[in-house]
Amino acid sequence: MSTPGNGDGNPGAEDTGTRVGGTGTHTGTGTGAGAGGGGGGGGGRPMDAGFFVAWFEEAAGLVRRDRDRLTELDAAIGDADHGTNLDRGLTEVVQALAGSPPESPGQVLSVAGATLIRKVGGASGPLYGSVFRQMGRSIAEPVTLAGFAAAFEEGVVALERLGKAALGDKTMVDALVPASRALALALRDGVGTPEAFELAARAAAEGAAGTIPLQARKGRASYLGERSIGHEDPGAASSALFLAALATVAAGGPGPAAGAAGAA
Ligand code: ADP
Ligand code: MG
Repeated sequence: MSTPGNGDGNPGAEDTGTRVGGTGTHTGTGTGAGAGGGGGGGGGRPMDAGFFVAWFEEAAGLVRRDRDRLTELDAAIGDADHGTNLDRGLTEVVQALAGSPPESPGQVLSVAGATLIRKVGGASGPLYGSVFRQMGRSIAEPVTLAGFAAAFEEGVVALERLGKAALGDKTMVDALVPASRALALALRDGVGTPEAFELAARAAAEGAAGTIPLQARKGRASYLGERSIGHEDPGAASSALFLAALATVAAGGPGPAAGAAGAA
């Protein structure tokens, strides 16, 4: 448990969304919500409210499946709660979405973000919450790949502002920024939606693996200094799961995740 600023006096949960002036590595390639080519008809299922609910259900299932791995990663360079934090938070998200299903993608994202901020005690709750809340505010409907990419980029910028982390600081930013860049490149190249999300998932997984040799400069792991080197960042690892879930749902895969509601 801690606040996002843990380690260098950054903002806490109560400050979510109010601070500006982070380093803002920014995702760079400027997708632009209305960008035309490749934005819409890339194939795959429509990105309606049900798509976004399925995304969180699938993410909850993957985090449930990998809960112990995430917690072990956090045990190495943090306080051994990341898997349980996120599992609890996403279970709450799935329940909130099931209780009163939102009508629009923006509302699904907003409910998910607000729930994570409220229910996850650790730094990752407000940080992930800021991504999804900002996405919810930004996303243009009906959602196209271009619109998704632009909203995702804005979500990542909101995260960077809140946590004041930059690429290379060994945080979730190191998975999310490459994912955002991969989406922008996929758009530029006119790649279809499922494939674009697959590329983003791969970029996130590579980004997460790329945190292993880094020394943490933000969050709890930064307390360890050089001893943080040699371990994958837990938040980057969970970010890769969010992107993997997105790719699965876009490809028409699994659907509602049994893990979120059922498994122990
Ligand atoms: P806590 O560190 O409070 O126990 P969690 O264990 O749930 O919270 O989440 C830890 C993860 O949060 C880290 O692995 C890192 O990816 C992310 N994180 C921590 N601080 C920051 C920050 N300032 N900016 C971006 N991400 C951060
Ligand atoms: Mg922790």
